[in-house]
Amino acid sequence: MRDYLRSLLLWELVGGLMLTMRHFFEKKNTISYPEEKTPMSPRFRGLHALRRYANGEERCIACKLCEAVCPALAITIESEQRDDGSRRTTKYEIDLFKCIYCGFCEESCPVDSIVETRVHEYHFENRGEQIMNKEKLLAIGDKYEAQIAADRREDAKFR
Ligand code: SF4
Ligand code: SF4
Repeated sequence: MRDYLRSLLLWELVGGLMLTMRHFFEKKNTISYPEEKTPMSPRFRGLHALRRYANGEERCIACKLCEAVCPALAITIESEQRDDGSRRTTKYEIDLFKCIYCGFCEESCPVDSIVETRVHEYHFENRGEQIMNKEKLLAIGDKYEAQIAADRREDAKFR
């Protein structure tokens, strides 16, 4: 009899509607991406970049530590010695299809050259575009240097 009455009064439907109405007026846990963004940690690991010093000189000294530590074998480096005796890369590539964004390359770099930026909204349209070469990585570093430097300062406070 009880089940019959519940079914006759559409009790489960009413209960569902009451639950909906209760959540309707509560604070929303969702956001309208991409118009709204969630807060992002200064340690966020997004698109890679190669940094320069303030005088424009590239930081990377071609020590290949990042290449050695990369668990996905995503980094390829070739280097040569300059006339002044310093060593610089002639080829620096990261295959973003192999990369697992672990951040080991960033952690291993002795001169804070290779970093992962907050940039996470990017895509590729043609085969091969996922290979980030030295020019592309330096250009990203130049574009986001202010944010990268600010994130490093913020991160240092917690180390
Ligand atoms: S984030 Fe990790 S997987 Fe990606 S290039 Fe750096 S070390 Fe390799
Ligand atoms: S990015 Fe850093 S760790 Fe990698 S080769 Fe250059 S200096 Fe070495």
